[in-house]
Amino acid sequence: MTPTEARNETHHRLIIVGSGPAGLTAALYSARADLAPLVLEGNQPGGQLTITTDVENFPGFPEGILGPELMDRMREQARRFGALVKFEAATEVHLDERPFRIVTDGDTYYSDSLVVATGASAKLLGLPSEGHLMGYGVSACATCDGFFFRGKEVMVVGGGDSAMEEATYLTKFATKVTIVHRRSELRASKIMQQRALDNPKIDFLWNAQVVEILGTREDGVHAVRITDTTTGDEREVPTQGVFLAIGHSPNTQIFRNSLEMNDIGYIHVQSPSTRTNVAGVFACGDAVDPTYRQAISAAGTGCAAAIDAERWLEAQER
Ligand code: NAP
Repeated sequence: MTPTEARNETHHRLIIVGSGPAGLTAALYSARADLAPLVLEGNQPGGQLTITTDVENFPGFPEGILGPELMDRMREQARRFGALVKFEAATEVHLDERPFRIVTDGDTYYSDSLVVATGASAKLLGLPSEGHLMGYGVSACATCDGFFFRGKEVMVVGGGDSAMEEATYLTKFATKVTIVHRRSELRASKIMQQRALDNPKIDFLWNAQVVEILGTREDGVHAVRITDTTTGDEREVPTQGVFLAIGHSPNTQIFRNSLEMNDIGYIHVQSPSTRTNVAGVFACGDAVDPTYRQAISAAGTGCAAAIDAERWLEAQER
């Protein structure tokens, strides 16, 4: 069935919100099932992989592939089978109406079913200097940017598994990695902690909060200002790069009033399915997954969401 066009309003059998590996895999499968899905790409088409460089762990690419290229290919593959992909972000969803109503800046869409694949974003400290220097010595992704810090000294902010993993990864390039943690005890799992503690290239700055990142876009970062969280004392510590690894937030704010989710915002699904608490709404990818957070695991649940949506629509239409 092709969408029925009206002025700035269309009706669809399936809308997919989000265009990372989960959303585009859902689009591929549902397009091949003749659902002619509409994908609302969101503000970052392609999702988090578009800010990475080499992806070496996506099966089928033995030489690796650039993140943006992988996402372009996924989009093309979904389009080839009839997915309609629009560079628009959903700003409102009305899941108490049938069909569901999804509003973007320019248009209103109606849909019989919905796949939520809005992903997650790296959390930031909220410092003005951090935004200004992002990409100029500040990063939220060691796998994307570590390469640029070969032979340099860098910091990783955070005390969880991500911080340990990022720090360990960065030792491939940096001469020294300092993990800056706001407490004296790590949150990371024992095995990840031990790996970082045993690494001779990794140092720790305990009870330390980064309150300013010092540098310029021209010359990069040269130091951070740190507050001792026990005494309140401030000091400058030299560094050439700052990696933020303080967790991720699922991009699920617009579903807060309609879908069941945990305190952080990860959507509850009726595992092992992708069904949410609203019949006809399915969720997949990083918006439901705080644990694995991999492109391939997101793609897998995207596939499951498309199959769940297809079967649900079939049952409704029977
Ligand atoms: P996390 O476990 O929530 O840890 C976030 C860390 O950042 C905490 O140590 C926290 O400090 C610190 N932090 C948060 N906000 C901060 C702020 N404003 N200023 C300074 N520090 C701040 O997040 P994560 O490390 O990303 O891990 C998320 C989930 O993914 C976990 O379940 C983890 O096990 C999993 N994961 C697994 C692997 C793996 O197994 N390979 C790798 C990465 C992640 P406090 O401790 O003081 O709260």
